[in-house]
Amino acid sequence: VPLVRCENAARTYGRGPAAVVAVHSVTCSVPPGARVCVVGPSGSGKSTLLHLMAGLDRPTTGRVSHPGLGGEDARGLARHIGVVFQGPSLLPPLTAAENVALPLRIDGVPGDEVASRTRAALRSLDLEPLAGRLPDDLSAGQAQRVAVARVLARGPALVLADEPTGQLDRATGRQVLTVLLTAAAELGAAVLVTTHDPLVARALDIRWYMADGRLVQPEARPEREGDP
Ligand code: ADP
Ligand code: ADP
Repeated sequence: VPLVRCENAARTYGRGPAAVVAVHSVTCSVPPGARVCVVGPSGSGKSTLLHLMAGLDRPTTGRVSHPGLGGEDARGLARHIGVVFQGPSLLPPLTAAENVALPLRIDGVPGDEVASRTRAALRSLDLEPLAGRLPDDLSAGQAQRVAVARVLARGPALVLADEPTGQLDRATGRQVLTVLLTAAAELGAAVLVTTHDPLVARALDIRWYMADGRLVQPEARPEREGDP
């Protein structure tokens, strides 16, 4: 049973002559434990597709469902789907550990379990020595690892990451992606990562290519896909 399924899902922004079709009728699904990369140039519709899959946006036509996640209730989906965004997302007055713990507290997890899950998430992303740091005292790559730890601590079945390495240099980006994939595998979580970087794409098993709002088959992949 797929965690998420898109059936002829399309998303258009605006109306009339000014309308922009960000995603044209896409049909695809993510099975449990899969590692999927959505590759395509900026503006090809990757973010829009990810937002549709996350339940953060609704398709203009067609359907997005989450058969493997027990229904479409927004709060339920938020528990099962973790979203990692491109830029800084940590709360500046809170330490790394407090940033990881906060969503667990909001979920109503008991205090001792918050502490143990926070420690485990920090450990799996090699962040233990940085637990007490404030976001301003972290590098961009360290901060992005904390953002990943914060998502994984909630134990999602599906992690959706929108250009998670987009603001990092190549080496740091690859390191963040590697720890994300390793930590997600420990949890048994499926991962879908969007990127315009073909090098990032190589780290994932399943690659979907997007161009002009359409998912194109890998065989039909244009020569310079992903090179902006
Ligand atoms: P989103 O991924 O949220 O849809 P974009 O990818 O269009 O947004 O852009 C997000 C940021 O990443 C922007 O600041 C943009 O300048 C930068 N960016 C997008 N594509 C590229 C690229 N191919 N090379 C370098 N920077 C890019
Ligand atoms: P990508 O993530 O591949 O950069 P996006 O999904 O962000 O692509 O964008 C796909 C298309 O939809 C682009 O033409 C973009 O300008 C347009 N778009 C994205 N978000 C909006 C929005 N909120 N309003 C209007 N147009 C948008």
